[in-house]
Amino acid sequence: MPGHERRTAVSRSSGIVVAIDIGTSAVKAGVFAADGRRLGYGNVPAPCWRPRPGWSEQPAMRIWQATAGACRQALAEAGSPKIEAVAVTGARGSFALADRDGTLLTDFITWQDRRALGQAAAAAALADAGWLQRITGVRMDASLWLPRLLWLIEHRRDLVAAAGCIVTPQAFVIGRLGAGHWPAEWSAAAYSGLFDIADHRWHEGLVDTFSVPSGLLPATLPPGAEAGRTSPAAGIETALPPRVPIVLAAADGPCAELGCGVVEPGRLICYLGTALSVAGPVERRIEDPSGNLITAPGSTRSLYRVLALGMAGASVLDWYGKLVGRPVLDRLDALMEGSVPGAGGARFIPALAGSGAPHWSAEARGAFLGLGFGHTEADLVRALLEGVVFECYWMIEALRTFGFDPAGLRVTGGGSRSNAWTQLIADIVGTEVVVPDEADPGLRGAAAYALVHAGSHPDVLSAARAIAGQWIVPGAFARRDRCAPGWRRLLPGRAPRLRPLRLGPRSCSPSASIASPGLRRRRRVAAGGPRARGPARPRLGWSARTAGQLGEDHQVGVTVEALIGAGIPADEIVTRPASDGPADIWPLGLKRGPADTWPLGLKRGPARTAPAAVVAARSAETVGLVLRVAAAFGATVQVQGTGTNVVGCLDGSPDVVLQLAMDRIVDLDEVSQVVTAEAAVTGGSLESFLNERGFTLGHYPQSLHHSTVGGWISTRATGTASARFGGLEQMVRGLEGVLSSGEAFRILARPRSPGGLDALQLLTGAEGSLAVITAASLAVAR
Ligand SMILES: Cc1cc2nc3c(=O)[nH]c(=O)nc-3n(C[C@H](O)[C@H](O)[C@H](O)COP(=O)(O)OP(=O)(O)OC[C@H]3O[C@@H](n4cnc5c(N)ncnc54)[C@H](O)[C@@H]3O)c2cc1C
Repeated sequence: MPGHERRTAVSRSSGIVVAIDIGTSAVKAGVFAADGRRLGYGNVPAPCWRPRPGWSEQPAMRIWQATAGACRQALAEAGSPKIEAVAVTGARGSFALADRDGTLLTDFITWQDRRALGQAAAAAALADAGWLQRITGVRMDASLWLPRLLWLIEHRRDLVAAAGCIVTPQAFVIGRLGAGHWPAEWSAAAYSGLFDIADHRWHEGLVDTFSVPSGLLPATLPPGAEAGRTSPAAGIETALPPRVPIVLAAADGPCAELGCGVVEPGRLICYLGTALSVAGPVERRIEDPSGNLITAPGSTRSLYRVLALGMAGASVLDWYGKLVGRPVLDRLDALMEGSVPGAGGARFIPALAGSGAPHWSAEARGAFLGLGFGHTEADLVRALLEGVVFECYWMIEALRTFGFDPAGLRVTGGGSRSNAWTQLIADIVGTEVVVPDEADPGLRGAAAYALVHAGSHPDVLSAARAIAGQWIVPGAFARRDRCAPGWRRLLPGRAPRLRPLRLGPRSCSPSASIASPGLRRRRRVAAGGPRARGPARPRLGWSARTAGQLGEDHQVGVTVEALIGAGIPADEIVTRPASDGPADIWPLGLKRGPADTWPLGLKRGPARTAPAAVVAARSAETVGLVLRVAAAFGATVQVQGTGTNVVGCLDGSPDVVLQLAMDRIVDLDEVSQVVTAEAAVTGGSLESFLNERGFTLGHYPQSLHHSTVGGWISTRATGTASARFGGLEQMVRGLEGVLSSGEAFRILARPRSPGGLDALQLLTGAEGSLAVITAASLAVAR
């Protein structure tokens, strides 16, 4: 085959095996002959879903159904041959809780899930990150089991109490195939943050430190171990014959290395999939003093692998495609032709889910930089690709210092299908690049374990050398030498530094803070003025902003795009083009009137720091989404009624201003004398409505016609008739709203309760520091 490089193909056995690879988007199965020929292939989607922004779960039943379907497809295509072994590999970092009988209590929480960012930061602080990494080889991050387990202990104690075992997707499938137990393979267990990679066992000190119920941790087995035999029941669904040995392959990363033939220590593979990683095998474990590189158990009992892990790879194109409403991958090469190397100065920082190796920061966020009116879509797309490849360059530079050689870099994953992208890697890294001529090298790597078990090869490395796929050199490779010098000039003199920038008197956890400037000011005074930067501490109600920073002057924080990406309807987001100058913070057509910081506002005029976005929420769902996105970005949200408060509603430069386009009067209960109205109902319209029915609220602030129900409650307002009817705190009977966590709540209007905290009074006068009020029930009089 022209342009193809054929690797060795030695057949020592006629044994035919099945390999299964459980990914986070699909399950793949392959039937392989001893010489590496793939006789049958199956691929059935098993996508993750996002129950909440930042969460990522994969339903267990989808995994099993996809496994069964993929096996049936592969075996049918191969003509149902006699099978000698089946090997299973799977994505690292995902796990579920099962009860003592093996019934799953949760879906699989995948490595992409970001719910446990706070727990990861706390775990790193509690256990001394360096000590932890020396034992486990991994860097504490939300993609490990431990932070998500701590999250479950904190939030779903009931599930943890009922659980008997942690189960990986690989173990789940092995159990269902007939093994009847759920062992974790070493390289999968290493993504827990609790596994001692020197002794290959759970580290008791870490388990104690984090109070992890030790009974939950599964038995561990080395790669290549037999876990059991297939059962007749599983055969009905998968078409696999009974009593076939089930072999535990290493996790997907080491399997991809084997499938690509990267078996010699010092060689590298670049995986350009959902995430970006560059990895290679080593004979002895490496300790990276910077803590940026991960060391994990490798494809054999004695090998290790070193990994530079990025958080975003080809997924940046999916993200961009969704933003512009049409996929990009298919028109990638054409778009790249429409721009020039360097994208005319446009740069993209691919930290959409934080930044990985070698510039770790969970809080960093992505950004387009250097845009001008002259830039086209082709420039943006080129900037996306170049941004990812620059990350790849820095990863390889970090690996070079440990003796890795990128020569003949093998690139795999979805992104390797693009000639343009692989060409960029060749140009920027300055090395020859080859790509496999078939997708799914992980499947081929898993097959190596099954073939060893079937007796076709003496060990897994020999098997991998014998069966590694064919390689092709991407078409445009010849241009490399011409482009490389230009790229050298474009490479930054130092790595782009993505580090969090914290503003405000103190830093705060990645949870959203609904800040009240009035409260903030008072607390600052009480604390004796602004403090120096200290360690991050969760504090509700404190203003904090987290942003990535490139060099010293580019701030990256919550964006309109992030809000739309989270599912907030675009017509509820009042976009503020930066070119418009000072923000128009009155997007609902409200008159500014005698408003915010009155009378100071009259003196100072309207100029303020512009928020990144103004959202006019039509529903509590939108409010919840705004707060969750803000939590993910560590951004400050300021709720605003009509802004007639006299203490400076928008002082403090919130990242997002949240207004409510919820102005319905919901109900008047004439018997109980309670009116229920949404928070943006203004005093004038409420009072007219009541008067027409023979009632009054009895609340007459001078700002009656300009202020809102939500604003009254949040400021504990009074009026000229309050001596008779009482202040707002005496009128509130019930409240609906959304907590800063994004969870909706409802306090029903009902007779007073003798015990417990009075949540109504806690929220009345809270100035938006505890929750966003979306509706209220207020007492009325005749
Ligand atoms: C001329 C003039 C006369 C006034 N007379 C009086 C008076 O007689 N008595 C009196 O008490 N006040 C008076 N005020 C002050 C002001 O009108 C009140 O504080 C009013 O309650 C603010 O309502 P608002 O809708 O404008 O809220 P905003 O000013 O927009 O917001 C006030 C505070 O409440 C928070 N907030 C607003 N909506 C929500 C919500 N839905 N959920 C959570 N938090 C929210 C905001 O974050 C902010 O901290 C007067 C103001 C002016 C300019």
